[in-house]
Amino acid sequence: MSNTICAIATAAGEGALSVVRISGEEAVAVAERVFALFGGKKVAEMAGYSCAYGRVMDGDERIDDAVLTIFRAPHSYTGEDSAEISCHGGTYVTERIFRLCCANGARPAERGEFTKLALINGKLSLTQAEAVADMIAAQGELTMKAAGLARQGRLAQRIDGMKHRLTVLLGKIAAWVDYPDEETPEVTEELLMSELSEVIGEARELSESYDTGILLKKGIPAAIIGKPNVGKSTLMNLLLGYDRAIVTSKAGTTRDIIEESVRVGDVVLRLADTAGMRKTEDEVEQIGVELAKKRLSESALLIAVFDGSARPDDDDRRLTQEIRGSAAAGGVKVLALINKSDISDAGYVSEYEQMLDGLTTIGISAKVGDGQRELEQTIEKMYLGGGSEDGVLFVNERQKYCLDRALSFLEDAQGGVALGVTFDAIGVEISDAAEALAELTGERITDSVVDEVFSKFCVGK
Ligand code: GDP
Repeated sequence: MSNTICAIATAAGEGALSVVRISGEEAVAVAERVFALFGGKKVAEMAGYSCAYGRVMDGDERIDDAVLTIFRAPHSYTGEDSAEISCHGGTYVTERIFRLCCANGARPAERGEFTKLALINGKLSLTQAEAVADMIAAQGELTMKAAGLARQGRLAQRIDGMKHRLTVLLGKIAAWVDYPDEETPEVTEELLMSELSEVIGEARELSESYDTGILLKKGIPAAIIGKPNVGKSTLMNLLLGYDRAIVTSKAGTTRDIIEESVRVGDVVLRLADTAGMRKTEDEVEQIGVELAKKRLSESALLIAVFDGSARPDDDDRRLTQEIRGSAAAGGVKVLALINKSDISDAGYVSEYEQMLDGLTTIGISAKVGDGQRELEQTIEKMYLGGGSEDGVLFVNERQKYCLDRALSFLEDAQGGVALGVTFDAIGVEISDAAEALAELTGERITDSVVDEVFSKFCVGK
């Protein structure tokens, strides 16, 4: 079977241009057989990173006018000789050129085979290869950014950093255990504990980024809660940028759960405006309250709204207790808004602030728009860790699995230190953790891992 592969690299469908990609020892030869350069030049003589205009020919039949780009090993995506034919888009022409290349010495590539070659030839690490698939699948700016960082190797760097610390620690332990009488620096329980807890902290943070990544990809289920008339619908409209929820000054107007996707900076919220959460005799309104409760329990972000122009009452205090409870239980982030800052009473506002002490609280006017920017920035910060570039790194399922394995070895090691287990036994746990991290970056990589990673790819990448 030929080891020169070929695929249509662009998406199927109509478009102005398409690209047929060839990679392997025979790539330039295959291109030579199907491509006639204008001006009588020879494909075989083209330098790497050069392109030329010409014709795709099937024997004497002219199929398309196209541009051929040549890449010479190792300076190509796969690290092998490669050629790309940019032809006119459209399914028929593109497929015809693809089949023509296959008839002239190439074979159809498998899913992700180009990237797999890049991995094998050391052009990409495993996490970078995975990032390529994530970039293709990215739906939004943020997932794109995260994949972009991983593609640049930022994730691999962080993992390598952790692994390095563990290796240094292992070295110290080994020296201490093997040559206790020599002038080796002493390994103390404190040193082990502090090193282990730092690496554990970092591993945990990365492992948790998986959930944030999922949330950000799908949108964060969020709910605006608060008693009637505090300005929930007005806030929803402010965030949506148009009048969607019905706003009236009669209490209890919003009876259905309205859910809309709102982009708050880099974060997408799936925002529900819940019906007034007060006790009611009205049957229809009661249904709204039940729905609101259900949606509430599924929310990852609760935005509690209070009316800064009225004194806090028992309903407000109850709501405050509820959100404190949710925040303490974990898994839910909570944000308190003191609304109506345009007509609020300074005395009431400070009562609210006291009541909400310790919770993230912002004063806004949903009607006028004051505080909107601060609200958006706060939400972004909650999910992106202050907008630091590393804050947008997310791990995927496979990577999380490796991290969690490393974590469990490290926690065992930590537990062992606390129990006074011998240092060489601790060393075994640390070394297992380092192995798990090595698997994450692809240093210790099994065929099944590679197959799993590349099964998610499209052909041509
Ligand atoms: P909901 O029942 O919590 O959804 O409250 P609405 O959004 O329906 O608002 C109730 C009333 O408060 C409406 O008359 C709004 O115009 C008014 N309102 C909401 N936000 C503000 C605000 O920031 N400032 C002022 N002055 N009025 C507001």
